[in-house]
Amino acid sequence: MEPLEDVARPIRKKDLQLTMETHIFVRSEFGPIGQILAHLNQQEAVTFYHLTRIPFYLMAPNQVVGPFGIDINSKRSSIPYPSDVDLNDVMGTEVGPDEFDNVLTKMATVLNGVTYKNSHEADSLSFIEWCQAKNLKFGLGVRLIMYLLFCAGLCIWPDEGSAGEFLRCLLDTVQSNAKSLFAKNVKALALGYPFGSCQVIPDAIGAGIKSFGGEIRTSQTVERILVVEGKDMIRGVQMASGEIIESSIVVSNIGPKETLDMVGKEHFTNNYIDYIKKIRPAINPYSLKIALDKEVTQEPFIFNVTSRFDEDFEKWKMGQFTDVPLTLFIPAVSVMSPRLAPKGKQLLILGYAIPDKINYSLNQVTEQFLSYMEYFYPHFRSHVEFYDVFGPDDLKKLWHSEYDRGIIRVGQYPDQVGEKALDSKTPIEGLYLVGTGIGKNVWGIGTDNAVQSGMECAKLILNGNIENK
Ligand SMILES: Cc1cc2nc3c(=O)[nH]c(=O)nc-3n(C[C@H](O)[C@H](O)[C@H](O)COP(=O)(O)OP(=O)(O)OC[C@H]3O[C@@H](n4cnc5c(N)ncnc54)[C@H](O)[C@@H]3O)c2cc1C
Repeated sequence: MEPLEDVARPIRKKDLQLTMETHIFVRSEFGPIGQILAHLNQQEAVTFYHLTRIPFYLMAPNQVVGPFGIDINSKRSSIPYPSDVDLNDVMGTEVGPDEFDNVLTKMATVLNGVTYKNSHEADSLSFIEWCQAKNLKFGLGVRLIMYLLFCAGLCIWPDEGSAGEFLRCLLDTVQSNAKSLFAKNVKALALGYPFGSCQVIPDAIGAGIKSFGGEIRTSQTVERILVVEGKDMIRGVQMASGEIIESSIVVSNIGPKETLDMVGKEHFTNNYIDYIKKIRPAINPYSLKIALDKEVTQEPFIFNVTSRFDEDFEKWKMGQFTDVPLTLFIPAVSVMSPRLAPKGKQLLILGYAIPDKINYSLNQVTEQFLSYMEYFYPHFRSHVEFYDVFGPDDLKKLWHSEYDRGIIRVGQYPDQVGEKALDSKTPIEGLYLVGTGIGKNVWGIGTDNAVQSGMECAKLILNGNIENK
Protein backbone atom coordinates (compact mmCIF):
# COMPACT_ATOMS: atom_id res chain seq x y z
CA MET A 1 0.00 0.00 0.00
CA GLU A 2 1.25 3.49 -0.89
CA PRO A 3 1.84 5.90 2.01
CA LEU A 4 -1.16 8.08 2.76
CA GLU A 5 -1.24 11.31 0.85
CA ASP A 6 -0.95 14.34 3.04
CA VAL A 7 -3.95 16.09 1.54
CA ALA A 8 -5.39 16.88 4.96
CA ARG A 9 -2.42 18.92 6.12
CA PRO A 10 -2.84 22.67 6.18
CA ILE A 11 -1.48 24.15 2.96
CA ARG A 12 0.89 27.08 3.26
CA LYS A 13 1.39 29.30 0.25
CA LYS A 14 3.10 32.65 0.33
CA ASP A 15 2.17 34.07 3.73
CA LEU A 16 -1.28 32.51 3.97
CA GLN A 17 -2.11 29.24 5.58
CA LEU A 18 -5.03 27.39 4.09
CA THR A 19 -6.74 25.60 6.89
CA MET A 20 -8.22 22.11 6.59
CA GLU A 21 -11.73 21.59 5.33
CA THR A 22 -13.77 22.24 8.43
CA HIS A 23 -15.74 25.45 8.20
CA ILE A 24 -17.49 25.73 11.51
CA PHE A 25 -17.95 23.75 14.72
CA VAL A 26 -21.63 23.65 15.57
CA ARG A 27 -21.31 23.03 19.32
CA SER A 28 -17.66 24.03 19.85
CA GLU A 29 -16.66 23.53 23.52
CA PHE A 30 -20.33 23.08 24.49
CA GLY A 31 -20.63 19.64 22.90
CA PRO A 32 -18.59 16.44 22.52
CA ILE A 33 -15.40 18.34 21.64
CA GLY A 34 -15.63 20.17 24.98
CA GLN A 35 -16.29 16.86 26.75
CA ILE A 36 -13.28 15.09 25.29
CA LEU A 37 -11.03 18.07 26.04
CA ALA A 38 -12.33 18.01 29.63
CA HIS A 39 -11.69 14.26 29.95
CA LEU A 40 -8.12 14.90 28.86
CA ASN A 41 -7.65 18.03 31.00
CA GLN A 42 -7.04 20.07 27.87
CA GLN A 43 -9.84 22.66 28.07
CA GLU A 44 -7.32 25.47 28.30
CA ALA A 45 -5.58 24.43 25.09
CA VAL A 46 -8.45 25.35 22.77
CA THR A 47 -10.25 28.68 22.68
CA PHE A 48 -13.09 29.19 20.28
CA TYR A 49 -14.21 32.28 18.47
CA HIS A 50 -18.02 32.33 18.71
CA LEU A 51 -20.52 33.77 16.27
CA THR A 52 -22.97 36.39 17.49
CA ARG A 53 -24.68 36.74 14.14
CA ILE A 54 -25.98 34.39 11.48
CA PRO A 55 -26.81 36.55 8.49
CA PHE A 56 -28.83 34.93 5.71
CA TYR A 57 -29.17 36.23 2.18
CA LEU A 58 -32.16 35.43 -0.01
CA MET A 59 -31.14 34.91 -3.61
CA ALA A 60 -33.15 35.11 -6.78
CA PRO A 61 -31.72 35.30 -10.29
CA ASN A 62 -29.64 38.50 -10.52
CA GLN A 63 -30.71 39.57 -7.07
CA VAL A 64 -29.48 39.08 -3.54
CA VAL A 65 -31.39 40.41 -0.57
CA GLY A 66 -30.04 40.65 2.92
CA PRO A 67 -28.68 40.31 5.39
CA PHE A 68 -31.51 39.17 7.66
CA GLY A 69 -31.48 36.51 10.34
CA ILE A 70 -29.96 36.22 13.79
CA ASP A 71 -28.01 38.81 15.73
CA ILE A 72 -28.04 38.12 19.42
CA ASN A 73 -26.87 41.65 20.24
CA SER A 74 -29.79 43.36 18.55
CA LYS A 75 -33.44 43.95 19.37
CA ARG A 76 -35.37 40.63 19.40
CA SER A 77 -32.01 38.99 18.51
CA SER A 78 -32.95 39.50 14.92
CA ILE A 79 -31.69 41.21 11.79
CA PRO A 80 -34.96 42.18 10.07
CA TYR A 81 -35.64 41.48 6.41
CA PRO A 82 -34.88 44.75 4.51
CA SER A 83 -38.15 46.72 4.54
CA ASP A 84 -37.54 48.31 1.13
CA VAL A 85 -37.40 44.99 -0.78
CA ASP A 86 -40.73 43.52 -1.80
CA LEU A 87 -40.59 39.84 -0.93
CA ASN A 88 -43.25 38.98 -3.52
CA ASP A 89 -40.96 40.31 -6.26
CA VAL A 90 -38.01 38.29 -5.02
CA MET A 91 -39.99 35.08 -4.62
CA GLY A 92 -41.87 35.58 -7.86
CA THR A 93 -45.06 34.57 -6.04
CA GLU A 94 -47.42 35.90 -3.38
CA VAL A 95 -46.04 35.38 0.14
CA GLY A 96 -46.53 37.00 3.53
CA PRO A 97 -44.48 40.20 4.01
CA ASP A 98 -42.75 39.05 7.21
CA GLU A 99 -41.72 35.51 6.20
CA PHE A 100 -38.06 36.20 6.90
CA ASP A 101 -38.45 38.36 10.02
CA ASN A 102 -37.69 37.13 13.50
CA VAL A 103 -36.44 33.78 12.20
CA LEU A 104 -34.94 32.66 15.51
CA THR A 105 -38.31 32.62 17.29
CA LYS A 106 -40.02 31.05 14.30
CA MET A 107 -37.34 28.38 13.99
CA ALA A 108 -37.94 27.39 17.60
CA THR A 109 -41.49 26.32 16.65
CA VAL A 110 -40.03 23.43 14.63
CA LEU A 111 -39.02 21.82 17.91
CA ASN A 112 -42.40 22.25 19.63
CA GLY A 113 -43.15 18.97 21.42
CA VAL A 114 -39.95 17.30 20.16
CA THR A 115 -37.82 15.42 22.70
CA TYR A 116 -34.73 13.24 22.25
CA LYS A 117 -36.96 10.22 22.97
CA ASN A 118 -39.82 10.96 20.59
CA SER A 119 -37.44 12.21 17.88
CA HIS A 120 -36.84 8.52 17.12
CA GLU A 121 -40.42 8.27 15.82
CA ALA A 122 -39.17 10.43 12.94
CA ASP A 123 -36.01 8.38 12.28
CA SER A 124 -37.52 6.58 9.33
CA LEU A 125 -38.83 9.73 7.64
CA SER A 126 -36.89 12.15 5.50
CA PHE A 127 -37.02 15.73 6.75
CA ILE A 128 -39.32 16.78 3.90
CA GLU A 129 -41.63 13.82 4.61
CA TRP A 130 -41.68 14.72 8.30
CA CYS A 131 -42.61 18.33 7.55
CA GLN A 132 -45.41 17.11 5.30
CA ALA A 133 -46.62 14.43 7.74
CA LYS A 134 -46.76 16.93 10.58
CA ASN A 135 -48.36 19.43 8.25
CA LEU A 136 -45.95 21.91 9.75
CA LYS A 137 -46.94 25.42 8.94
CA PHE A 138 -43.82 27.22 10.03
CA GLY A 139 -43.88 29.37 6.93
CA LEU A 140 -41.75 29.69 3.86
CA GLY A 141 -38.84 31.59 5.44
CA VAL A 142 -38.28 29.00 8.15
CA ARG A 143 -38.81 26.12 5.72
CA LEU A 144 -36.10 27.41 3.38
CA ILE A 145 -33.71 28.09 6.24
CA MET A 146 -34.36 24.63 7.69
CA TYR A 147 -33.61 22.97 4.34
CA LEU A 148 -30.41 24.96 4.17
CA LEU A 149 -29.39 23.99 7.70
CA PHE A 150 -30.26 20.38 6.97
CA CYS A 151 -28.06 20.27 3.84
CA ALA A 152 -25.20 22.17 5.46
CA GLY A 153 -25.39 20.18 8.71
CA LEU A 154 -26.03 16.56 7.74
CA CYS A 155 -24.62 16.98 4.22
CA ILE A 156 -27.58 15.06 2.79
CA TRP A 157 -30.52 16.33 0.77
CA PRO A 158 -33.58 16.96 2.96
CA ASP A 159 -35.71 14.54 0.94
CA GLU A 160 -33.27 11.72 1.79
CA GLY A 161 -31.73 12.36 5.21
CA SER A 162 -33.40 11.30 8.46
CA ALA A 163 -35.73 13.81 10.14
CA GLY A 164 -35.24 12.20 13.57
CA GLU A 165 -31.48 12.57 13.36
CA PHE A 166 -31.80 16.22 12.35
CA LEU A 167 -34.24 16.96 15.17
CA ARG A 168 -31.77 15.53 17.71
CA CYS A 169 -29.04 17.71 16.20
CA LEU A 170 -31.33 20.73 16.51
CA LEU A 171 -32.08 19.90 20.16
CA ASP A 172 -28.33 19.64 20.82
CA THR A 173 -27.73 22.93 19.06
CA VAL A 174 -30.37 24.69 21.14
CA GLN A 175 -28.88 23.26 24.35
CA SER A 176 -25.34 24.20 23.39
CA ASN A 177 -26.42 27.69 22.41
CA ALA A 178 -28.21 28.12 25.74
CA LYS A 179 -25.03 27.09 27.61
CA SER A 180 -22.87 29.29 25.47
CA LEU A 181 -25.11 32.36 25.70
CA PHE A 182 -24.93 32.15 29.49
CA ALA A 183 -21.25 31.20 29.76
CA LYS A 184 -19.38 34.00 31.49
CA ASN A 185 -16.60 34.40 28.95
CA VAL A 186 -18.65 33.70 25.86
CA LYS A 187 -22.15 35.19 25.78
CA ALA A 188 -22.45 34.29 22.10
CA LEU A 189 -23.75 31.41 20.00
CA ALA A 190 -22.12 28.00 20.36
CA LEU A 191 -21.16 27.93 16.67
CA GLY A 192 -17.50 28.71 16.49
CA TYR A 193 -14.03 28.20 15.16
CA PRO A 194 -10.88 27.64 17.19
CA PHE A 195 -8.33 30.45 17.45
CA GLY A 196 -5.23 29.26 15.65
CA SER A 197 -6.75 26.76 13.25
CA CYS A 198 -8.77 23.55 13.37
CA GLN A 199 -5.51 21.74 13.97
CA VAL A 200 -5.43 22.95 17.58
CA ILE A 201 -8.22 20.47 18.41
CA PRO A 202 -6.44 17.24 17.39
CA ASP A 203 -3.20 18.71 18.79
CA ALA A 204 -4.87 19.21 22.20
CA ILE A 205 -6.45 15.76 22.11
CA GLY A 206 -3.06 14.31 21.18
CA ALA A 207 -1.35 16.15 24.04
CA GLY A 208 -4.01 14.85 26.43
CA ILE A 209 -3.56 11.27 25.28
CA LYS A 210 0.22 11.59 25.73
CA SER A 211 -0.26 13.04 29.22
CA PHE A 212 -2.01 9.77 30.14
CA GLY A 213 0.91 7.76 28.76
CA GLY A 214 -0.46 7.17 25.27
CA GLU A 215 1.71 7.18 22.17
CA ILE A 216 0.58 8.78 18.93
CA ARG A 217 2.02 8.06 15.53
CA THR A 218 1.09 10.26 12.62
CA SER A 219 1.88 9.98 8.90
CA GLN A 220 2.06 6.22 9.22
CA THR A 221 -0.09 3.85 7.28
CA VAL A 222 -1.75 0.77 8.68
CA GLU A 223 -1.62 -1.93 6.07
CA ARG A 224 -3.54 -4.78 7.68
CA ILE A 225 -5.62 -5.48 10.73
CA LEU A 226 -4.54 -8.84 12.10
CA VAL A 227 -6.80 -11.56 13.48
CA VAL A 228 -5.63 -14.38 15.77
CA GLU A 229 -5.27 -17.46 13.64
CA GLY A 230 -8.29 -19.75 13.81
CA LYS A 231 -10.23 -17.36 16.07
CA ASP A 232 -12.51 -14.37 15.50
CA MET A 233 -10.30 -12.25 17.73
CA ILE A 234 -8.12 -9.23 17.06
CA ARG A 235 -4.37 -9.66 17.21
CA GLY A 236 -3.18 -6.14 16.26
CA VAL A 237 -2.16 -4.18 13.18
CA GLN A 238 0.58 -4.39 10.64
CA MET A 239 2.07 -1.10 9.49
CA ALA A 240 3.13 -0.34 5.91
CA SER A 241 6.70 -0.46 7.23
CA GLY A 242 6.13 -4.11 8.11
CA GLU A 243 6.12 -3.48 11.87
CA ILE A 244 3.47 -5.41 13.79
CA ILE A 245 1.79 -3.78 16.77
CA GLU A 246 0.15 -6.42 18.96
CA SER A 247 -3.12 -5.49 20.64
CA SER A 248 -6.35 -7.24 21.57
CA ILE A 249 -8.32 -4.12 20.65
CA VAL A 250 -8.32 -2.18 17.38
CA VAL A 251 -10.59 0.84 16.95
CA SER A 252 -10.83 1.83 13.30
CA ASN A 253 -12.02 5.19 11.95
CA ILE A 254 -10.92 4.64 8.36
CA GLY A 255 -14.45 3.66 7.28
CA PRO A 256 -16.36 0.37 7.64
CA LYS A 257 -15.79 -0.80 4.05
CA GLU A 258 -12.09 -0.06 4.20
CA THR A 259 -11.83 -1.74 7.60
CA LEU A 260 -13.37 -4.96 6.28
CA ASP A 261 -10.84 -5.03 3.45
CA MET A 262 -8.01 -4.48 5.86
CA VAL A 263 -9.12 -7.39 8.07
CA GLY A 264 -9.88 -9.67 5.11
CA LYS A 265 -13.44 -10.48 4.03
CA GLU A 266 -12.90 -14.18 4.82
CA HIS A 267 -13.32 -13.27 8.51
CA PHE A 268 -16.90 -12.05 8.09
CA THR A 269 -20.20 -13.67 7.15
CA ASN A 270 -21.75 -12.83 3.78
CA ASN A 271 -24.62 -11.11 5.60
CA TYR A 272 -22.27 -8.74 7.42
CA ILE A 273 -20.27 -8.06 4.24
CA ASP A 274 -23.50 -7.26 2.32
CA TYR A 275 -24.72 -5.04 5.13
CA ILE A 276 -21.47 -3.03 5.17
CA LYS A 277 -21.31 -2.87 1.38
CA LYS A 278 -24.74 -1.24 1.27
CA ILE A 279 -23.81 1.62 3.61
CA ARG A 280 -24.47 4.89 1.83
CA PRO A 281 -22.25 7.92 2.34
CA ALA A 282 -23.47 11.52 2.50
CA ILE A 283 -23.28 13.78 -0.56
CA ASN A 284 -19.98 14.68 -2.21
CA PRO A 285 -17.97 17.66 -1.02
CA TYR A 286 -16.95 20.75 -2.86
CA SER A 287 -14.88 23.24 -0.94
CA LEU A 288 -13.16 26.30 -2.31
CA LYS A 289 -10.54 28.04 -0.21
CA ILE A 290 -9.81 31.53 -1.43
CA ALA A 291 -6.82 33.60 -0.35
CA LEU A 292 -7.32 37.32 -0.90
CA ASP A 293 -4.78 40.15 -0.81
CA LYS A 294 -7.45 42.43 0.69
CA GLU A 295 -10.14 42.09 3.35
CA VAL A 296 -13.44 42.03 1.49
CA THR A 297 -15.68 41.40 4.51
CA GLN A 298 -15.76 41.67 8.27
CA GLU A 299 -18.71 39.24 8.51
CA PRO A 300 -17.34 35.95 9.82
CA PHE A 301 -20.01 33.73 8.31
CA ILE A 302 -22.79 34.04 5.75
CA PHE A 303 -25.47 31.69 4.47
CA ASN A 304 -27.71 31.95 1.45
CA VAL A 305 -31.20 30.64 0.89
CA THR A 306 -32.74 30.53 -2.54
CA SER A 307 -36.13 31.74 -3.63
CA ARG A 308 -36.24 28.79 -6.03
CA PHE A 309 -35.40 25.85 -3.78
CA ASP A 310 -38.17 23.56 -4.97
CA GLU A 311 -37.31 23.82 -8.71
CA ASP A 312 -33.54 24.21 -8.35
CA PHE A 313 -33.12 21.35 -5.91
CA GLU A 314 -34.15 18.78 -8.56
CA LYS A 315 -32.03 20.53 -11.19
CA TRP A 316 -28.85 20.44 -9.08
CA LYS A 317 -29.48 16.85 -8.04
CA MET A 318 -29.51 16.00 -11.76
CA GLY A 319 -26.11 17.69 -12.09
CA GLN A 320 -27.26 20.95 -13.74
CA PHE A 321 -26.10 24.39 -12.67
CA THR A 322 -28.75 26.63 -11.21
CA ASP A 323 -28.88 30.42 -11.61
CA VAL A 324 -28.42 30.90 -7.91
CA PRO A 325 -26.85 28.47 -5.45
CA LEU A 326 -29.04 26.30 -3.25
CA THR A 327 -27.24 26.37 0.06
CA LEU A 328 -24.01 28.24 -0.02
CA PHE A 329 -22.21 28.96 3.20
CA ILE A 330 -19.07 31.02 3.36
CA PRO A 331 -17.06 31.36 6.54
CA ALA A 332 -14.41 34.07 6.46
CA VAL A 333 -12.18 31.90 8.61
CA SER A 334 -9.48 34.53 9.02
CA VAL A 335 -12.05 36.89 10.56
CA MET A 336 -12.74 34.20 13.16
CA SER A 337 -9.13 33.15 13.54
CA PRO A 338 -6.93 36.11 12.49
CA ARG A 339 -3.73 34.04 12.59
CA LEU A 340 -4.84 32.35 9.37
CA ALA A 341 -3.99 35.40 7.28
CA PRO A 342 -1.60 38.33 7.67
CA LYS A 343 -3.12 41.71 8.50
CA GLY A 344 -4.97 43.16 5.52
CA LYS A 345 -5.37 39.79 3.81
CA GLN A 346 -8.23 37.33 4.08
CA LEU A 347 -9.13 33.69 3.79
CA LEU A 348 -12.62 32.53 2.81
CA ILE A 349 -13.86 28.94 2.55
CA LEU A 350 -16.93 28.23 0.52
CA GLY A 351 -18.69 24.95 1.18
CA TYR A 352 -21.16 23.12 -1.02
CA ALA A 353 -22.17 19.63 -2.02
CA ILE A 354 -22.07 18.18 -5.49
CA PRO A 355 -24.18 15.34 -6.86
CA ASP A 356 -22.74 12.04 -8.07
CA LYS A 357 -23.41 12.77 -11.71
CA ILE A 358 -22.47 16.25 -12.70
CA ASN A 359 -22.41 17.59 -16.23
CA TYR A 360 -19.38 19.82 -15.71
CA SER A 361 -15.66 19.60 -14.99
CA LEU A 362 -14.37 20.66 -11.57
CA ASN A 363 -12.89 23.78 -13.23
CA GLN A 364 -16.31 24.74 -14.56
CA VAL A 365 -17.81 24.16 -11.12
CA THR A 366 -15.17 26.43 -9.61
CA GLU A 367 -15.86 29.14 -12.19
CA GLN A 368 -19.57 28.92 -11.37
CA PHE A 369 -18.94 29.24 -7.62
CA LEU A 370 -16.56 32.15 -8.03
CA SER A 371 -19.28 33.88 -10.01
CA TYR A 372 -21.90 33.08 -7.31
CA MET A 373 -19.59 34.68 -4.78
CA GLU A 374 -19.58 37.95 -6.69
CA TYR A 375 -23.16 38.43 -5.51
CA PHE A 376 -21.83 38.79 -1.98
CA TYR A 377 -18.38 40.27 -2.56
CA PRO A 378 -18.55 42.34 -5.77
CA HIS A 379 -15.18 42.63 -7.57
CA PHE A 380 -13.44 40.34 -5.09
CA ARG A 381 -11.87 38.39 -7.95
CA SER A 382 -9.27 41.05 -8.62
CA HIS A 383 -8.00 40.37 -5.08
CA VAL A 384 -7.65 36.60 -5.36
CA GLU A 385 -4.01 35.64 -4.62
CA PHE A 386 -4.73 31.97 -5.17
CA TYR A 387 -7.38 29.39 -4.45
CA ASP A 388 -7.49 25.74 -3.65
CA VAL A 389 -10.27 23.36 -4.66
CA PHE A 390 -11.14 20.26 -2.66
CA GLY A 391 -13.47 17.93 -4.52
CA PRO A 392 -14.78 14.36 -4.18
CA ASP A 393 -11.64 12.78 -5.66
CA ASP A 394 -9.46 14.57 -3.10
CA LEU A 395 -11.61 13.00 -0.43
CA LYS A 396 -11.04 9.55 -1.91
CA LYS A 397 -7.29 10.15 -1.71
CA LEU A 398 -7.60 11.48 1.83
CA TRP A 399 -9.51 8.38 2.85
CA HIS A 400 -7.37 6.04 0.85
CA SER A 401 -10.69 4.65 -0.27
CA GLU A 402 -11.80 2.77 -3.34
CA TYR A 403 -15.40 3.16 -2.37
CA ASP A 404 -17.09 6.39 -1.47
CA ARG A 405 -16.43 10.08 -1.75
CA GLY A 406 -19.29 11.50 0.34
CA ILE A 407 -18.50 14.07 3.03
CA ILE A 408 -19.53 11.59 5.71
CA ARG A 409 -18.71 7.91 5.13
CA VAL A 410 -21.86 6.71 6.89
CA GLY A 411 -24.63 9.11 5.86
CA GLN A 412 -27.43 9.88 8.31
CA TYR A 413 -30.21 8.28 6.25
CA PRO A 414 -33.37 6.74 7.74
CA ASP A 415 -31.95 3.20 7.52
CA GLN A 416 -28.58 4.22 9.04
CA VAL A 417 -29.58 6.11 12.21
CA GLY A 418 -31.15 5.42 15.63
CA GLU A 419 -31.96 1.74 16.12
CA LYS A 420 -30.65 1.00 12.64
CA ALA A 421 -27.31 2.78 13.12
CA LEU A 422 -24.15 0.82 12.40
CA ASP A 423 -22.91 -0.64 15.67
CA SER A 424 -19.35 0.16 16.74
CA LYS A 425 -19.00 -3.44 17.85
CA THR A 426 -18.16 -5.84 15.01
CA PRO A 427 -18.46 -9.64 14.82
CA ILE A 428 -14.71 -9.88 15.51
CA GLU A 429 -13.85 -9.70 19.19
CA GLY A 430 -11.78 -6.59 19.88
CA LEU A 431 -12.53 -4.85 16.56
CA TYR A 432 -14.53 -1.62 16.80
CA LEU A 433 -15.64 0.90 14.20
CA VAL A 434 -15.90 4.62 14.93
CA GLY A 435 -16.36 7.81 12.96
CA THR A 436 -19.11 10.18 11.96
CA GLY A 437 -22.38 8.29 11.57
CA ILE A 438 -21.21 5.19 13.47
CA GLY A 439 -22.56 3.86 16.75
CA LYS A 440 -25.86 3.28 18.52
CA ASN A 441 -26.78 6.30 20.63
CA VAL A 442 -24.66 8.55 18.47
CA TRP A 443 -25.89 11.51 16.46
CA GLY A 444 -24.65 14.98 15.68
CA ILE A 445 -23.06 17.06 13.00
CA GLY A 446 -19.68 16.31 11.42
CA THR A 447 -16.83 16.54 13.89
CA ASP A 448 -19.17 16.57 16.92
CA ASN A 449 -20.56 13.26 15.73
CA ALA A 450 -17.07 11.79 15.17
CA VAL A 451 -16.01 12.67 18.72
CA GLN A 452 -19.28 11.37 20.18
CA SER A 453 -18.81 8.14 18.25
CA GLY A 454 -15.34 7.70 19.75
CA MET A 455 -16.56 8.41 23.28
CA GLU A 456 -19.53 6.01 23.01
CA CYS A 457 -17.17 3.34 21.69
CA ALA A 458 -14.82 3.94 24.64
CA LYS A 459 -17.79 3.40 26.97
CA LEU A 460 -18.55 0.12 25.21
CA ILE A 461 -14.96 -1.05 25.61
CA LEU A 462 -14.75 0.08 29.22
CA ASN A 463 -18.20 -1.29 30.07
CA GLY A 464 -19.54 2.19 30.56
CA ASN A 465 -16.76 3.12 32.97
CA ILE A 466 -16.13 6.56 31.58
CA GLU A 467 -16.91 9.49 33.80
CA ASN A 468 -19.37 12.03 32.47
CA LYS A 469 -17.71 15.39 32.82
C1 LIG B 1 -15.00 19.19 2.66
C2 LIG B 1 -15.46 18.87 4.05
C3 LIG B 1 -15.91 19.88 4.89
C4 LIG B 1 -16.32 19.60 6.19
N1 LIG B 1 -16.73 20.63 6.99
C5 LIG B 1 -17.09 20.37 8.27
C6 LIG B 1 -17.46 21.43 9.15
O1 LIG B 1 -17.44 22.61 8.78
N2 LIG B 1 -17.80 21.12 10.44
C7 LIG B 1 -17.80 19.84 10.89
O2 LIG B 1 -18.10 19.62 12.08
N3 LIG B 1 -17.48 18.80 10.07
C8 LIG B 1 -17.12 19.04 8.78
N4 LIG B 1 -16.78 18.01 7.95
C9 LIG B 1 -16.96 16.62 8.43
C10 LIG B 1 -15.82 16.16 9.30
O3 LIG B 1 -14.59 16.51 8.71
C11 LIG B 1 -15.93 14.65 9.45
O4 LIG B 1 -17.22 14.35 9.92
C12 LIG B 1 -14.91 14.10 10.43
O5 LIG B 1 -13.60 14.47 10.08
C13 LIG B 1 -15.01 12.59 10.44
O6 LIG B 1 -14.09 12.09 11.36
P1 LIG B 1 -13.67 10.58 11.27
O7 LIG B 1 -12.79 10.29 12.43
O8 LIG B 1 -14.90 9.75 11.08
O9 LIG B 1 -12.85 10.44 9.91
P2 LIG B 1 -11.64 11.24 9.30
O10 LIG B 1 -11.54 12.60 9.87
O11 LIG B 1 -11.78 11.11 7.82
O12 LIG B 1 -10.35 10.42 9.79
C14 LIG B 1 -9.93 9.21 9.19
C15 LIG B 1 -8.42 9.27 9.12
O13 LIG B 1 -7.91 7.97 8.84
C16 LIG B 1 -6.77 8.14 8.02
N5 LIG B 1 -6.51 6.84 7.34
C17 LIG B 1 -7.17 6.27 6.30
N6 LIG B 1 -6.61 5.09 5.98
C18 LIG B 1 -5.57 4.91 6.84
C19 LIG B 1 -4.60 3.88 7.00
N7 LIG B 1 -4.58 2.79 6.22
N8 LIG B 1 -3.65 4.02 7.98
C20 LIG B 1 -3.65 5.12 8.80
N9 LIG B 1 -4.56 6.12 8.70
C21 LIG B 1 -5.50 6.01 7.73
C22 LIG B 1 -7.21 9.25 7.06
O14 LIG B 1 -6.08 9.85 6.46
C23 LIG B 1 -7.92 10.19 8.02
O15 LIG B 1 -7.04 11.12 8.60
C24 LIG B 1 -16.33 18.26 6.65
C25 LIG B 1 -15.87 17.23 5.82
C26 LIG B 1 -15.44 17.53 4.53
C27 LIG B 1 -14.94 16.41 3.68
